[in-house]
Amino acid sequence: MHDFRYIDGRFYCEGVSVESLVKKHGSPLYIYSQKTLVSNYQRLDDALKGLDHRICFAMKSNSNLAVMNTLASSGSGFDVVSEGELRRVIAAGGDPTKCVFAGVGKTEQEIRYALEQNIYAFNVESEPELERINRVASKLKKKAPVAVRVNPNIDANTHSKITTGTYENKFGIAFETIEGVYARASKLKNLHLRGIQMHIGSQLTEVKPFAAAVSKVLPLVEKLKASFGIEFFSIGGGLGIVYQQALASGTNAWWKRPEAKEILTPAIYAQALIPLLKGLGLCILIEPGRFISGNAGILVSRVEYIKRTGNKNFAIVDAAMNDLVRPAFYDSFHEIVPLRRKTGVKVSTDVVGGICESSDYFCKDRPLPKLVEGDCIAILSAGAYGSVMGSTYNSRSLAAEVLVNGKKSALVRQRQSLESIWQYESLAPWSTTRE
Ligand SMILES: *Cc1c(COP(=O)(O)O)cnc(C)c1O
Repeated sequence: MHDFRYIDGRFYCEGVSVESLVKKHGSPLYIYSQKTLVSNYQRLDDALKGLDHRICFAMKSNSNLAVMNTLASSGSGFDVVSEGELRRVIAAGGDPTKCVFAGVGKTEQEIRYALEQNIYAFNVESEPELERINRVASKLKKKAPVAVRVNPNIDANTHSKITTGTYENKFGIAFETIEGVYARASKLKNLHLRGIQMHIGSQLTEVKPFAAAVSKVLPLVEKLKASFGIEFFSIGGGLGIVYQQALASGTNAWWKRPEAKEILTPAIYAQALIPLLKGLGLCILIEPGRFISGNAGILVSRVEYIKRTGNKNFAIVDAAMNDLVRPAFYDSFHEIVPLRRKTGVKVSTDVVGGICESSDYFCKDRPLPKLVEGDCIAILSAGAYGSVMGSTYNSRSLAAEVLVNGKKSALVRQRQSLESIWQYESLAPWSTTRE
């Protein structure tokens, strides 16, 4: 669900015309809808109200301060994966005591900082990490709250680069060995065994793998609760969203079209999981990223050239894989629409960026309205794993970002200046400089 739609043939984010934002801030431009962010959070929160639960937004999907502040104001905690992310939570006005710290590579410095900020729990990925956290906590004379990430060895049936819950990948500790790990960890004096965690993958479009993983881990969770008094069970993130949603005509929101319905609704998710988790008597954490931010953002770009080669028709745009790498990285599909609605026959088009890589594309052989130089397009569902994965490859600056709230809009990330791309670089002292 989201708040991007045509009104009288012009594309809008909530009450603001997207074209007016491009005029003001240039392109490429990320635009986020505050209403969509809040409603995605709220719908999930409401669906789970039958459970003692907490939502920790996976900020790696979108860590813009204004986006995070919006979610913090709605009550969200955060799933962080680095000291930088935890510092961002604080900068965005979020509450570090509502944060869980994930990731396989936590450094001593990161652990120390997180302990000083009194985070809710470390989601621990290995036994050496448990020992390290214990050691750092003991130096600080603290007890570190930890949860061990269990790898349930369940195939999430998603893209291999975003599957995390099988023994083929680096995440978590094997299901069969978890009890022993907790037994050994319980002897480490500066640890507080607070919970257990799992996360089986991203962009899951069915509820089945979630339910299968929860069912598989549940008996173990009950044992850990009885033996070690754990307080929470985090079932991870991974709720998928609809990327393929053709625009309806008129002012109708296109998700109302039957073929564009949401694949995995909060209701479906909650209906399958609440009965399994209700009797457990633990706080249930979830760590959704994409579900909250994905359809809340678009990337707007301008067509620089139309180029025909042999039987191909290319629209070369001013955004590129450095702005949105998902198609290059995961072969992902993003809906592309012109900011001014066009009628007439569609033309098979490759929308590509200007970077010197063949993987620099946004779509291939897609029937699109006939684009011409100067047209602006919106690449939809770009709010998750979009700007956060941006780079300055080809010395292209990071895109600007705007947050829309009703009829208001605010620039929430300035377009990076070109000079700042190399501001931390310098010549070697022995170099011959031009005077
Ligand atoms: C990436 C990640 C998430 C969020 O994944 P989404 O698919 O964006 O919901 C949650 N938990 C962990 C541990 C992750 O690595």
